[in-house]
Amino acid sequence: MPYQAGKRLPGERASKLGHLDVLKSPLVQQLVQKFEEQDPSDLPPFTGWQPFPPLGKPLDIIFAVDGSWQPITDERPPYKSIAFIKTALVNLDQVGLSQIDKETPHPFAIRDLMSKSAAYHATALPLRHLYADGISVYNAVRQVIYESVKDESLQGEIMETFKWLVYEKWSNNPRPLPPFECPHCGGKNATLPIDAEKGNCPNCGNELFITDMLGFHLEMVEEAASDSVATAYMIIHETLLLFTGIRHFWETSKDVLSRCLFIKDGPLQIRAQYSKLVNPIRNFLLHANEQGHPVNLIGQEKTGTFVDHLNLISRNAPAGNLFIPDHVYICEKIQHRPPNGAPYGRDTNYGAKVFVTANERCRLVLNVPVKTSMGPFIANPSIDQLINIENILATLPSLLSSRHENALLPIELANSVASLSTYPSAQVLRLFADATVKKK
Ligand SMILES: [Zn+2]
Repeated sequence: MPYQAGKRLPGERASKLGHLDVLKSPLVQQLVQKFEEQDPSDLPPFTGWQPFPPLGKPLDIIFAVDGSWQPITDERPPYKSIAFIKTALVNLDQVGLSQIDKETPHPFAIRDLMSKSAAYHATALPLRHLYADGISVYNAVRQVIYESVKDESLQGEIMETFKWLVYEKWSNNPRPLPPFECPHCGGKNATLPIDAEKGNCPNCGNELFITDMLGFHLEMVEEAASDSVATAYMIIHETLLLFTGIRHFWETSKDVLSRCLFIKDGPLQIRAQYSKLVNPIRNFLLHANEQGHPVNLIGQEKTGTFVDHLNLISRNAPAGNLFIPDHVYICEKIQHRPPNGAPYGRDTNYGAKVFVTANERCRLVLNVPVKTSMGPFIANPSIDQLINIENILATLPSLLSSRHENALLPIELANSVASLSTYPSAQVLRLFADATVKKK
C-alpha cells in the first residue's frame, strides 16, 4: 500500500454543518457549534510517553515486504470480476541504503538495486462469474491459492515456509494440522498428516489442499468470492514471503539472522479465520527467543485508527519517545468501546502496538513481537518485553524516508516493486544468499 499524503499542511477549512437545520435544542446547537470550532488546544495534553531505552546495535541487513491488489470488473453482465495480486520482498544493506538519495532517489539507482535485490510474486484470483473447464469459482479460488503458494518462480519456498510454520517443523515435535472445516462437506475434523500438501477429507473423501486450513472457502459461495479473499491472500503471502527469509537464516546461519531486520507493511496481524497462522508464528518467535536467537521483526501501520490516534497524541511530543497502549487504552481511547471481553488482539496479533516519535518530524505506529514466559500473548506489554527493541530503535534513523511523511524507505522500495506489473523476479534463494555473501 502506498504512503498517504501528509497531514502537516493546513487543510482548507469550511463549515460542514452550517447549512443543516437541526433540532432547536440548546444542547444540540451547542454540540454543532463545538464541532465547528475544532480547536486542538482543547485536547488534554498526553502524558504517556516514555524515553527510548538505551539504544543497542543497529541491524545492518534489512528485508521489507509489501503487496498490492487490484480488482478488474467487466462492465457488462454478468459482471465478471478477477483480482490481480502482487507481493514483493526487497533486501537492502546499510551500504545500499546509504547510497540512495533519500530526498530524490534516482529511478535508475532504484531499478538497479531492485533487479539484484527483489523477489516478486504475482497471481490472479477469480472473484465472480469466471469459469475454467467447468470448475466453480469456489473450487477455482481454492486451487489457484494452493498453486500460487507453491509458485515455482519462487522455487516452492513459500509453500515450504507455510509447512514449516503450520506443522511447526522448526520444533523437535512437529504436529499435524489442527482440525479445520472441510470445504466440501463442512465436517469439522479435516486435517492432514505432518508435511502433507494435499490429502483427503476423513469424512467425505474429497481432496483437501493444505491452504484450505486457512478457511478462504468461508468467504465464498459456489459462483463468487468476497473481495476480502483477495486481501487475505495478499496479507498471508506477504507474511509467508517475509518468514521465508527468517526460515532461510534460521536454517543456514543464526548469526546472520541476528543482524537482519524484517519489516512488514501493515500490522503484525492476521484477522478472522485466517488467524490460524498467528499461533504458529507466535510459537516460533517465542521459541527463537528462548533459544537465544531472537528475530528482529516489525510491522508499520500507515493508515487506520492507530495512525489517526498517534496524530492526535503526538502533537508537541518529545522526540526519541515511545508509548505502548495497553488493552484498556486501546479499547477506550482508540476503538471507543468498553474494555470488557477478550484482550485486544488475543487471537489475531503477533506484535504489540508501539507508538514511536523517531525524531521531531517522524512519528510511527510500529508493531513489535513480545517475549514472555507467561505464554505467547501479553495484553499489556512493557518495553522490556518487546523483542530486541533496543536494536530496532537503533536502526530506525537509517531507515527514515525523506520523501514521505512518517515513512520507512525499505517499505517504499518494496511498494515500488509490488506495484509494478512486469518486474523481473530475482530468485528468492539467491536473494538470501547475496545478503549473506555481502556481509561475509
Ligand atoms: Zn469433507
